Amino acid sequence: MKLYHLITGPLRVNAYFLVNDNGEAVAIDGGENYKKVKQAEEVYGFKVKALLLTHAHFDHAGCAKKLQDDGAKVYISKLDAPKLLNDGNLSGDFGRKFDYLTADVTVSDGDVIDECGLKIKVIATPGHTDGSICFLIDNMLFTGDTLFWESVGRTDFPTGDRDALVRSVKKLFAIPGEYSVYPGHEDFTTLSHERQFNRFVDYD
Ligand SMILES: [Zn+2]
Repeated sequence: MKLYHLITGPLRVNAYFLVNDNGEAVAIDGGENYKKVKQAEEVYGFKVKALLLTHAHFDHAGCAKKLQDDGAKVYISKLDAPKLLNDGNLSGDFGRKFDYLTADVTVSDGDVIDECGLKIKVIATPGHTDGSICFLIDNMLFTGDTLFWESVGRTDFPTGDRDALVRSVKKLFAIPGEYSVYPGHEDFTTLSHERQFNRFVDYD
């Protein structure tokens, strides 16, 4: 399996692509820029079969409808699924165009997604939105807007909750072992680095 990474859209969202030996890809947060995803498919020779959304915000989910139209199965949490159909995705607040969609599969804490030969565990991490989730695959943790390098996601948007976010980050820190952390924005990090240096969980 190979991991590819793109930075897409004006809010510089990290889009990730896990590609198996057959060129089938699981995308995590495709971002807003559909053309850039299509370009990546061409350049790296993969095809997105499934799109896993950490949450519904437009900067992460903006190209979901187009990828779905191309045949990708879209996954999101039960709680964030409705936001793909209303202003809960914040596109209105930011003046962005958003193609509304109904997700193909909704997931909950502890579910295991089986796509492209990969087993991907869903971890509910409410706080940035009530339906924010993280994805665990092998030694990789995809954290969306829950956990960043020495930082955490904003909680001042609708359904955001500071206390819930702190609990969620602590829940991630409690996962035993070492993981590469791939956040929704900015630099990659590791779980051990965040356990040691991330001070945002001290606010409870
Ligand atoms: Zn967000």
